[in-house]
Amino acid sequence: MPEIQINCERVLRDLYTLREVGKYKSGVHRPTLSEPDILVRNWLKDQLNSIGFESKVDGIANVIGYSPGPGKKLLTGSHLETQNRSGWLDGVLGVVYALETARAIYEARGHPIGIDVFAFADEEGHFGSFLGSRSLIGQVTEKELDVATDRNTGIPLREALRRANLQGIRREVLDLDRYLGMFEAHIEQGLILEQNAKSIGVIETIVGSKQFNIIAKGEQNHAGTTPMDMRQDAGRAVLNVYQRLETVFSSIMSNKTVWTVGKIHFHPNQPSIIPGHAEMTVQIRDPS
Ligand SMILES: [Zn+2]
Repeated sequence: MPEIQINCERVLRDLYTLREVGKYKSGVHRPTLSEPDILVRNWLKDQLNSIGFESKVDGIANVIGYSPGPGKKLLTGSHLETQNRSGWLDGVLGVVYALETARAIYEARGHPIGIDVFAFADEEGHFGSFLGSRSLIGQVTEKELDVATDRNTGIPLREALRRANLQGIRREVLDLDRYLGMFEAHIEQGLILEQNAKSIGVIETIVGSKQFNIIAKGEQNHAGTTPMDMRQDAGRAVLNVYQRLETVFSSIMSNKTVWTVGKIHFHPNQPSIIPGHAEMTVQIRDPS
């Protein structure tokens, strides 16, 4: 039997092709259900069909290619839309690796066996929270789709699906018994592999994530006429918490923990008014 051979030039050619669709400076701007996004979804579907898959873009824009034949499959792929004005390899790398693996199998065996290929929709959360992948496991209701809107443009999801000619198309639900497991290759979005001169890493765990909103209620007052000892400054209160987090967290967290204060808001957020209300978010991620 001929050996299964990955064609690296073909991988690069596909990556370069996809980089042109929605190109923005050195990266790509291809939000979920935008015109370029629909183009690349159909491109993937056609690529898969041309090598013997039964593939489709479903009613929420997931691309799923089923390989024919009996036996358990490995599900493999990633996502095709990008964050706004983002890198050109995020998501696309995993999809192209999956496609190339399928092609290599097809060339060696005459038909694609053993793997199904996917590209989830809205993995980057333009319309919701993992709408595409959750839909594939049957966890998204029609009601959720009714109210979802594009966080950039405000366009309702239903309208975006209509423009993409996907309205009224059935959403696929995966038969979990069909699969041995799932495999996703992804570009590193941090610095660890690069700084350690490693070309590849294997995920051992998926981090849990918790977000807290910390709210301080004080008393809004005049910044010029209210003496320091008579203030109830909500802004100062949340900043004190922030400072405490920095010292306490670094002494009690593991070296794998990351935490972020990504958003602080003072009300009314004016230079000459003592904030009467302040909020901040704290996000913590940890593998344990
Ligand atoms: Zn990604």
